[in-house]
Amino acid sequence: MNSKNTKPEIIVRKKLFSKGYRYKIHDKKLPGRPDIVIPKLKIIINVHGCYWHYHGCEKSRLPKTRAEYWLTRLENNKKRDFFNKQKLIKLGWKVIDIWECTLNKSNIAKTFERLEHQIAV
Ligand SMILES: [Zn+2]
Repeated sequence: MNSKNTKPEIIVRKKLFSKGYRYKIHDKKLPGRPDIVIPKLKIIINVHGCYWHYHGCEKSRLPKTRAEYWLTRLENNKKRDFFNKQKLIKLGWKVIDIWECTLNKSNIAKTFERLEHQIAV
C-alpha cells in the first residue's frame, strides 16, 4: 500500500522519538489506521503524501493521461481522510495533519516548531 511507512512518515517519527514522545503506528483499532498515535496525550498525527491525499499543492498535480480517473480516485481518498478524522475527533482524539510538502528542507524546521506547539496546547 502507498500509505505505509512512507519516507515523510519516518522523518516525523524520528523527530518525535528524539523529543521523547512514545507512539504506536498504524493502530488497526482506530478509524483509518492512523499513522502515528500518542496514547498518553490522546494525539494522532497523520502524515499525508501530497499526491495520494490530494493536497492541492504542486506535488498533487494530476497526470495528463486519465486525469478524470485520478481525480475521482484521489477525491475519494480525501473524503475518506475527512470522515476518518471526524470519527477520531468524536472518539476524543486530537488529530494533527502533516503534509509531505511541509517536510522539505526549507519548511521542515517551521513544521516541527508548529507540531510541537500543536502537541503542547
Ligand atoms: Zn502538499
